[in-house]
Amino acid sequence: MDTPVKFIKGVGEKRAQLLNRMGIFTLYDAVRFYPRTYLDFSSLTPISEIVPDTVCCFSAVVGYDPIKHLIRKNMTVYKTMVTDGVNGVNITIFNNSYLAESLETGKEYIFYGKVTASRGSLEISNPIVESADEGVAMRPIYHQTASLTSRMTERIMHQAVNLYLSRNIPDIIPDKIRQGFKLCHGQFAVKNIHFPENPHDLEIAKRRLAFEELLILQIGMKRLRSSNEKHTEHIIKKDYSEEFMSLLPFELTSAQKRAIADSLSDMKSGKPMNRLIQGDVGSGKTAVAACLLYVSAKNGLQSAFMAPTEILAKQHYNTLCNMLGEKGITVEFLTGSVTAKKKREIKERLRNGEVHIIVGTHALLSDDVEFSNLGLVITDEQHRFGVAQRGKLIFKGANPHTLVMSATPIPRTLSLIIYGDLDLTVIDERPKGRQKTDTYCVGTSYRPRIYSFIKKHLDSGLQAYIVCPAVEDNPDSDITNVTDYCESLSENEFSDYRVGLLHGKMKPKDKERVMADFLSGEIQLLISTTVIEVGVDVPNSVIMVIEDADRFGLSQLHQLRGRVGRGREKSYCILISDGSGEETRKRLGIMCRTNDGFLIADEDLKIRGPGDFFGARQHGLPDLKIADLTTDMPTVRQSKKACDMILAADPTLSLECHKSLAAAVDRLFSSEKSLSFN
Ligand code: ADP
Ligand code: MG
Repeated sequence: MDTPVKFIKGVGEKRAQLLNRMGIFTLYDAVRFYPRTYLDFSSLTPISEIVPDTVCCFSAVVGYDPIKHLIRKNMTVYKTMVTDGVNGVNITIFNNSYLAESLETGKEYIFYGKVTASRGSLEISNPIVESADEGVAMRPIYHQTASLTSRMTERIMHQAVNLYLSRNIPDIIPDKIRQGFKLCHGQFAVKNIHFPENPHDLEIAKRRLAFEELLILQIGMKRLRSSNEKHTEHIIKKDYSEEFMSLLPFELTSAQKRAIADSLSDMKSGKPMNRLIQGDVGSGKTAVAACLLYVSAKNGLQSAFMAPTEILAKQHYNTLCNMLGEKGITVEFLTGSVTAKKKREIKERLRNGEVHIIVGTHALLSDDVEFSNLGLVITDEQHRFGVAQRGKLIFKGANPHTLVMSATPIPRTLSLIIYGDLDLTVIDERPKGRQKTDTYCVGTSYRPRIYSFIKKHLDSGLQAYIVCPAVEDNPDSDITNVTDYCESLSENEFSDYRVGLLHGKMKPKDKERVMADFLSGEIQLLISTTVIEVGVDVPNSVIMVIEDADRFGLSQLHQLRGRVGRGREKSYCILISDGSGEETRKRLGIMCRTNDGFLIADEDLKIRGPGDFFGARQHGLPDLKIADLTTDMPTVRQSKKACDMILAADPTLSLECHKSLAAAVDRLFSSEKSLSFN
């Protein structure tokens, strides 16, 4: 399975490189590069029944030899007409003389593609063409790139599938499970996902491969977890939570108290905690984490607190130092930007147990970070991490307690997989005295009014953000450039104010200084990219202006809006967009109507569709190639059952019949690219 693609017949160095660029490195990757769709010659549409703007497949006879038009240099267009004897379709072929010249007048072909209507006649551009008498039932269509057409990929796949079949590779799904769940054999599935004889066989292959994918994923996820059944030495004996609360300048909400109580009862039980705390932006998750960190330190346990960005990690570090510093608890900070010397020193002190709480980013995952007694792992904004990353931290301790925190609500199917066995506490209450953030959507012509609105607030001692989508000038797009934007505002409209700039490409030290200045009020107006999207907490900031708002996803807009409305003052979110499309208006309209993150996530899913929503950014899962989490609920349930059966019988997957399954799990989780944001 790990044979490099260059050993597939017909793939040389050059093709291998093209394939590598598409993420295909081995024979395994190749047979799992599934077709995008199929040409089904068994269901041809008569021309008279073609619905314009749909993709379809029809058979027709070429009316005359394609006529060549030279439009400009390097651009040749061929035109012809094909007919079924009654109706016709105009064919346009761009820059493909091979195809155009191979069409013979009077001969019947099968055409596939999107048919459009223009001035009463049907048209198709660059169709896929198949000779009518070839006798293939279905033909796979692959994603194509500039240098690799679907047809080329198809030929490669023929060789790859043959090579795969000839090797007699043991099935990933153990026989017993395969029979129990009525799944086809792996070889049948691979053959038929690429070259199905008919739609029925294709369905059988698809179900089996989706099942396999979900099974591998769930076994992998299960392995990342310290199981509920296990025992842990890390037991909270004395509950210091009352003491912690007395350190706070505010009274915790009852939802926060419940989250703390739930977690502490886990941590007292002798079994490792596995808990998810889900609470909308601004619901006060950090205070819950801080309490657990405090109680753990008081009980002699070491803790790790991981955040997805440098800025957020620093903020948490500062919060904890302020709260706990004088209580004899040692809090340290570890991210990529810490100097090598300091890193060495912190790691040493972690190893010998001098540091009670370490706050950091992915840097905490590096192999040489070791603990003397890691008892609690907390991950903030869990959805921004790959699942494997969270697992890595857990394995640095002996069955530590784990808590993950997230504001992003996710659909049921997905949560079953990611959080399957996690206990859940929802923080469904906002701190007292908060006012609703009012949201407006306006065009760019409103900028002068928005700027005066901001100034009015800055004058009364409050602060504001303006978020722009991109950092550098991109000649291909008109995305507002944050650097220029900031320069222009500070020289013109806001020349009398203290304006700061923040973006991901700045050095960590500079980012840190800007954030510190914004927190202290030194900077009044912060112009930033989405680096502030997660977690940033400056309660004195009350206006969030988002430029080019239509370029952001709804969940992202909701996160950004969550940066304001964190104090007692009335807050505002202003979405600027000149986008006039129906979809844009609908999406931004939702933002104006509701502040409910769950509702927004639902709408986001409906509008953008599962493909976008389930991008790695949202959940950190490895990419799924074939299983569709929005529709495959029965397969999710069945594969979960299979996963439980397999692990119950063989928790370490060491039986001979589980060898290929174990390898597949390793492959999936090792190929997971380290996700890094900002
Ligand atoms: P999130 O859940 O988005 O991570 P944070 O933990 O950052 O929210 O909290 C948001 C803000 O609310 C912070 O400024 C925090 O100090 C404040 N806060 C948290 N809990 C309370 C509370 N019970 N009463 C008042 N303010 C609170
Ligand atoms: Mg937070």
